[in-house]
Amino acid sequence: MTSNPYPLGLRLDGRRVVVVGGGAVATRRVPALLDAGADVLLVAPELTPALRARVDAGRLHWVPRRFVPEDLDGAWLVQVAIDDPMAAASVSAVAAERRIFCVRADDRTAATAWTPAVTRHGPVTVAVLGGGDPRRAMTVRDAIRDLLAVRLATDGIAGRPDASTGTTGGRRTGRVALVGAGPGDPELITVRGWRLLTEADVVVADRLVPGLLLDELRPDVELVDASKIPYGPSRAQEEINQILVDRALAGAFVVRLKGGDPYVFGRGGEELLACAEAGVPVTVVPGVTSSIAAPAAAGIPVTHRGVAHEFTVVSGHLAPDSPASLVRWDALAGLRGTLVILMGLKNLAAITATLIAHGRSPQTPAAVVQEATTGTQRVLRSTLGEIAADLRTADLRPPAVVVVGDVVGALDG
Ligand code: SAH
Repeated sequence: MTSNPYPLGLRLDGRRVVVVGGGAVATRRVPALLDAGADVLLVAPELTPALRARVDAGRLHWVPRRFVPEDLDGAWLVQVAIDDPMAAASVSAVAAERRIFCVRADDRTAATAWTPAVTRHGPVTVAVLGGGDPRRAMTVRDAIRDLLAVRLATDGIAGRPDASTGTTGGRRTGRVALVGAGPGDPELITVRGWRLLTEADVVVADRLVPGLLLDELRPDVELVDASKIPYGPSRAQEEINQILVDRALAGAFVVRLKGGDPYVFGRGGEELLACAEAGVPVTVVPGVTSSIAAPAAAGIPVTHRGVAHEFTVVSGHLAPDSPASLVRWDALAGLRGTLVILMGLKNLAAITATLIAHGRSPQTPAAVVQEATTGTQRVLRSTLGEIAADLRTADLRPPAVVVVGDVVGALDG
């Protein structure tokens, strides 16, 4: 075959696609077919557990036997995902007879259609064919993916999908995205969070947001540093809400970028309500929270089989005896699992004393993880009884997470 392939984007919504074979190739191909809305019929005597789970979830039809020609009744496309060349050839012969395009995992030269290497960026799909060499296709695809990530960041090349109106580019209705930036390492933002950040007109960022993420914004993006807003905390929050609402109503796409997850001690709920009240559409993109990531970065799993079957995340911002505190420290002292305390350094001595007074053993392993997942991460390991004193000598500072529980030593050899 010497001619070039003719590229197409198949719109498979509700259309029958037959996949023959239930092994590794089918496991990799079926999700994208389902994602495209295809009505997938899987013909195979046996399935991988991953495919079995999709069948059990009612996502596709499975006929548990070998292929027969009638399986192609009503099909628009066939994916041959079996190793046996004789069986594969007989499937493609039936497909050819019926003029149904046939993708062959076992023999690309015998196939009548090729699966490209794909990268997706919001509304844009780039599909690469490597002239019959899948490795070449993947190499080129990877290069384009990297390039697109940069171009998107610098000039919004892919257009800006608008969740509320479905328009791209040009005129937009303003909206707000509350995006979790992750714990500190700029690579720990989600793929969606990163994409929305590259599309933003205005970015309102917190003190805890990884600086490198902001470094990559387009020069014309308005960056509002929420930590620099004067006034006290509650007035500052009102100011932030106002900025989000005002900019969005003026037509901007505003990303409110917050450390960790927006809803874990991040006041994301208040911002969502303020936007909703003003009629501004809001999307929330969860983030990797420091309450789980900081222990992990220090080699501490928040749960571990046979050690801790629960973990509790709590704010140590208010002293245990503060009338405003909503935390039942006495009750927490009775738990056996992992306790993760955020914003707890200032009150650590009072917190540990309260936990011990209500029955948690002073021997319980404890750790403090400062600036987790960043270049300046520091870890202090101690016990519940000693950690407050050790903290003073070690001179650790916020932001830091305190972890209490047997998981602290669980992975130590
Ligand atoms: N929404 C954030 C938490 C905001 S409260 C999240 O989900 O992670 C701020 C507190 O988070 C800090 O006082 C500290 O306790 C914790 N924190 C945030 N980032 C941290 C990091 N990189 N290392 C350790 N603790 C961190």
